[in-house]
Amino acid sequence: MAYVSGKEMIKRAWEGGYAIGAFSAHNAETIRGILRAAEQEQAPIMIQIGQKVINTLGLYEMKAMVDTFMRDITVPVCIHLDHSRKFEQTMEAARAGFQSLMFDGSGYEFEENVRITKAVADVAHALGVGCEGEIGKIGGTEDDITVDEADAMITSVEEAQEFATRTTVDYLAISVGTAHGVYKSEPKLAFERIQEIRDIVKKPLVLHGGSGVPDEQVMKAVGLGVAKVNVDTELRQAFTYGVQEIWKENPEEFVLATSLGRGEEVMMAKVQEKIRIFGSQGKAADYK
Ligand SMILES: [Zn+2]
Repeated sequence: MAYVSGKEMIKRAWEGGYAIGAFSAHNAETIRGILRAAEQEQAPIMIQIGQKVINTLGLYEMKAMVDTFMRDITVPVCIHLDHSRKFEQTMEAARAGFQSLMFDGSGYEFEENVRITKAVADVAHALGVGCEGEIGKIGGTEDDITVDEADAMITSVEEAQEFATRTTVDYLAISVGTAHGVYKSEPKLAFERIQEIRDIVKKPLVLHGGSGVPDEQVMKAVGLGVAKVNVDTELRQAFTYGVQEIWKENPEEFVLATSLGRGEEVMMAKVQEKIRIFGSQGKAADYK
């Protein structure tokens, strides 16, 4: 299977009542682990390229690396640009061949967020790729940007509606009680708000900060119209624990294929677990 537009992938998931796992990749092993997990589960997936890895390895380099590992993959895959805060970068990703672009203007005033997100959406639509916008601030730390818990707000229905209509985004990230990073206490999703936004906005919704949210809550959110769930922290943890396991046994294990390979295996199992929670296992068959 070749790459699939994020627009098509998320629409199918939304209509089918399941969610696409959008998994963040950080190096060759995490890319391969995500792709192998998707293949194993026969699930369509998104590989997210975030700001941190763009700053270290580079946007074109990550795209090229995913291309390389796609060779034996038969399931639908979409490369997604996560939390871009610059219009220029979203265009760079479009040029590089990403199939989904997120502009995160939640740090801007509403009008400015609308203006830039609309410009990104226009280009995305012309190219046939998906576009995600964000309204309401999601708490926690992502890629060195921290949103204070006090500043994290539950997205209002009115704002979500106006934003979605004016920007024409294909899927909408909303703030409904999740946060980026590690939770200090158990998160409680605002289900009523998700439902209200779904009923009015009528577009697929995106849940950020999916790591550490109890499975039942995620499943319930998916049932209410969340069609994309971002997972990063839990995958980085799984990968790190795998590597640590090897080095705890033998601090002088210098064969990186052994330590990083174990990290990949542990992370892969986590991705498979998430795919099943999101209900996207076996859905690759719908594309044939
Ligand atoms: Zn996010």
